[in-house]
Amino acid sequence: MKRLQDQGKACFYWDYDTSYIRDGNTNSAGLFMNRNLKVFRNDMPADWQYNTLLSTPGTEVTRRIIGTASDIVQVKLIPELLGSLPTVPPEEAHHTAVILVDENLIVPLLTSLPGDIGDINITMGYPLKMTGVYSLVKHIFNLQRNASAERNEILFSRREVIDILRHPLIADVSGDEEKSISAEIISGNLFRIPTGFLCKTRLMEAVFRKSSTPSEFSDYLTNILEIVSLGGSGDDQEDPDSLMQRKLRNEFIHSALKTISRLEPVAESQAVTFRIDTYIRILDKILRNQSVPFTGEPLSGIQIMGFLETRALDFRNIIMLSVNEGALPSVSTGSSFIPYSIREAFGLPVINHQESLYAYHFFRLLHRAENVTFVYNSDSSGMRTGEMSRFLTQMKYARLISPETVTLKFDLRTSSPENPEIEKTDMHRERLLRLYSGDQARSMLSPTAINTWLNCRMRFYYRYISGLKEPDQISQEIDHAVFGQVLHRIMKEIYSGTPGKEITPDYIDTLSGDTEFLAGLIDQTVDSIYGQDLRRPESGNDIIIKDILLAYLRRILAADRYISPFAMVGTEKEYRFLLPLVSEGTELRIRRGGSIDRIDRAGGRLRIVDYKTGEVASRIASLDDLFADDRKKEFDGWLQTLLYCEAFLSNNPAEAVRPSVYRVKELIDAKPDDALKIKEDKNSEWILEDYRTVRETFMAGITGVVASIFSSGEPIRMTKTLSKCNYCPYRGLCRR
Ligand code: SF4
Repeated sequence: MKRLQDQGKACFYWDYDTSYIRDGNTNSAGLFMNRNLKVFRNDMPADWQYNTLLSTPGTEVTRRIIGTASDIVQVKLIPELLGSLPTVPPEEAHHTAVILVDENLIVPLLTSLPGDIGDINITMGYPLKMTGVYSLVKHIFNLQRNASAERNEILFSRREVIDILRHPLIADVSGDEEKSISAEIISGNLFRIPTGFLCKTRLMEAVFRKSSTPSEFSDYLTNILEIVSLGGSGDDQEDPDSLMQRKLRNEFIHSALKTISRLEPVAESQAVTFRIDTYIRILDKILRNQSVPFTGEPLSGIQIMGFLETRALDFRNIIMLSVNEGALPSVSTGSSFIPYSIREAFGLPVINHQESLYAYHFFRLLHRAENVTFVYNSDSSGMRTGEMSRFLTQMKYARLISPETVTLKFDLRTSSPENPEIEKTDMHRERLLRLYSGDQARSMLSPTAINTWLNCRMRFYYRYISGLKEPDQISQEIDHAVFGQVLHRIMKEIYSGTPGKEITPDYIDTLSGDTEFLAGLIDQTVDSIYGQDLRRPESGNDIIIKDILLAYLRRILAADRYISPFAMVGTEKEYRFLLPLVSEGTELRIRRGGSIDRIDRAGGRLRIVDYKTGEVASRIASLDDLFADDRKKEFDGWLQTLLYCEAFLSNNPAEAVRPSVYRVKELIDAKPDDALKIKEDKNSEWILEDYRTVRETFMAGITGVVASIFSSGEPIRMTKTLSKCNYCPYRGLCRR
């Protein structure tokens, strides 16, 4: 450059403020400028003004520093900050700049801009890692990394398969067949899915195959991205928004494809061999750091740009976000194989130089700016320091530049809670009647539904009135729901061949002593729940749970041995009956029913038995406990068993039945504590041996509850016991 200047082929124009040149080394912004002025001189016109607004502000200059509580608050402030600027005509809007030191804020910023802002011009790159294209590529990386081979077949992990099938870019190019695959995976409880199951269409064949070399992977990924780029309607009727989205998506895909093709020679190189995992890591690193440039009309509208895009530009109004220490100056250096000490020794750029460069760009921006607002995030949680940039601290203490500092205080309120009570209307009532009333009713009002009403009416409303079902999915590990299901199925299996036969203590001893048989039964039942083709890896947790299941089975068998000999009458039997009641002057016949876990006859008395792995009360103060509104969940088991007694009795009126609940966790002694105890007074209680003794009271209670379910005036309330909400699937709706 010096030679060009000496030959008269180059001129040098330096823009600076006397404050950081005059003070020499006190401001690092002048480090390079001092040197450059000495080496190259300055060709600026003689009347060029070096006493800028930076060091000689007039009364018209305002500078503010605002500390906010989070990144989102920073962008949400933008409409107010823009509104506080002096009104400018639209043709002068380009004198205003919103500068994002942290470019990741571009999306929240764009969604926070006021609707009447007019034109905007974005001059910055959009980080590819923030796009849907990158998230799809990332899922594909994981799919390939976690794929395994077994019995000549490639297996993919359920999580990645579902993530890819549900990804909006794949959904855009999917047909009905592809969409049904994810439903099949969930309903079939598949955890490791073979390619044969997935590759039913061309799209699936393209996505679900394993690449074994970097070159193969490069072709594979290119192919998927090309298919995805064809998604969207593409017809003439497409609305402008979708068209814009599609163009944007294809721009991102194009950017990713460019990187992949740039890496192709490396992937195909014979000279260097590396594993596919290494290739994925290199590609991922490049894509993560890549940004896709936006282009716009520079002289139209408010300018939105990154910090480095402001070089050599002047603005009258500036709003700069994320002016935090660590972000300004940036502490990241470009990747280099040359160590710091060697770079320093040979005068190569090091981090200190970067600080000076940033300082110059920062202070130069203030040369002609009249209204400047710096916003920083003062949140110091996690890895954040919450400190303002050193440049702002420097400004605060400089004699000539005196910014006003504002710390925002917020009137913080939690999001408004949902109304804890809604009114049951005629429409709700009609929907319930359609479902449950009359001989033609579509469903049966189960004991679970009644218990739900008594536990939390709002939960009943979501589940049974609005029909919002929990998603049909099963966890990979044996959870509480699967645990109960396995236990019930095994008990059914154990006694399946015995109806009518006498079950003796010897028979039970043989069963209980045959660990191999019981363990085999557990394995078989677990497998049947997760599907034949599950290939679910057995975890340590599974092994522990299977041991617990074995222990519980032995406890039930020990309790059975105590009452043996007995005869099994039936297992998992369906019973139905109609409950007549008068609701709002109309006679209703509500369809009721359920499946009784077990009916047996011991000591001449018929027992209706329910196995419970959760909490069940061992005694109640009175039958009213079962029908109290917003009552404890521990009474669910007894209400259910008494309803089964009623269902059985309505089909077999002459029988005396005894309700029995096997509280599996509590079956520690061989003598089963399975009966319902009802307190008489403080010191005594009685055991319910024959349901018929409480039938009338019970039916009056249950009729009252069912009538309240069908009454249109009955309020629908959220429970007052917050602990019930902990595992409720609707807690998001209730905002609890
Ligand atoms: S979150 Fe709580 S209040 Fe809401 S439905 Fe569930 S249990 Fe009821």
